[in-house]
Amino acid sequence: MTTVRDVAGWLEDAYPPALAESWDRVGLDCGDPDAPVSTVGFAVDPTDAVVAEAVARGAQLLVTHHPLLLRGLHAVRRDEPKGRLVMALLAGGVAHFCAHTNADAAAGGVNDALAAALGLTETRPLTALPEDPLRTLVTYVPEPDADALLDALAAAGAGRLGRYDRCSFTHPGQGRFRPLPGANPHLGSVGEVERVDERRVEVVLPPGATGRVVAALLAAHPYETPAFHVLDHAPLDSARGSGRVGVLPEPVPAAELARRLAAALPATAGGVRLGGDPGRSVRKVAVLGGAGDSFLEAARRAGVDAYVTGDLRHHPASELLAWPDAPVLLDVPHAAAEALWLPAAEAVVAARAAATGASLATYVSSIDTDPWTARY
Ligand SMILES: [Zn+2]
Repeated sequence: MTTVRDVAGWLEDAYPPALAESWDRVGLDCGDPDAPVSTVGFAVDPTDAVVAEAVARGAQLLVTHHPLLLRGLHAVRRDEPKGRLVMALLAGGVAHFCAHTNADAAAGGVNDALAAALGLTETRPLTALPEDPLRTLVTYVPEPDADALLDALAAAGAGRLGRYDRCSFTHPGQGRFRPLPGANPHLGSVGEVERVDERRVEVVLPPGATGRVVAALLAAHPYETPAFHVLDHAPLDSARGSGRVGVLPEPVPAAELARRLAAALPATAGGVRLGGDPGRSVRKVAVLGGAGDSFLEAARRAGVDAYVTGDLRHHPASELLAWPDAPVLLDVPHAAAEALWLPAAEAVVAARAAATGASLATYVSSIDTDPWTARY
């Protein structure tokens, strides 16, 4: 039996909550984690129509990009919009899960879906997050004790690197030391310089495991006072972060890119707006799903020919376009750009369900949740 908690866990593996902005509220925010699930729905916004559809389709879990409870809620009343949504979810037996800025930042998330819809290749984040922090423990141990020490360090959480564990490096060398009065040396004697064939042992560890790994080192190392040090790795850019930058296979006029974008997006009343020269040749493109005002300058600095985002306001857009090296701006309806991610999230759940042999139905809602309903 698949539960709400199981599906939430699959989604959090793909879109780690740690990638969410500090102000965000992601994850399971309504419903029973232990309830069984046979149908999962996906939508951009948890609106009345989207929740009614989930109930009508017999879904026990609704996954949306936007949070249901981002700001404080001080009452749950049927005569208020948020209360009405929470009550409809609970009464319909539908749990709600949100993957928001974590799904923006993650590899395979909202921005990768937007980049893929435009056919961008060689993509990288517009503003990259660093790789997960990592440390290396270096120590020196008599050669016959090296394997037992590595076993103890691995048991304490050291040596995990991507899809590998027990990652380590050893190199032979000679250790020297002189036990002082009062010492109780494992090898050698007080007052005599000792030379020992040792192995230099290097092993990676996550910073959170440092205390456990050092305690394991002290317990497993044969020496009374083992020598060791711990190094922090330089923070390198990861494949996760805000927005994406990539290149088109062939340069196209900005107007043609806007038409392709409009064709790839769900239909909206607002359509795609273009700022700048529609005839400009575009090869390098930045994309950022959702509201992109705050990354205008990052897009200009990235040297792109076009910046695709949403919710651009008059002043930030005008001021950016006044720069001689400004990109063309393509302003897309916020929810339409993010809807491109829904099939990817659905595929994550379907793949995990298939891998566990669970029978699970999924659907992507086609309800348009754009607040702008007409254009004159
Ligand atoms: Zn959004």
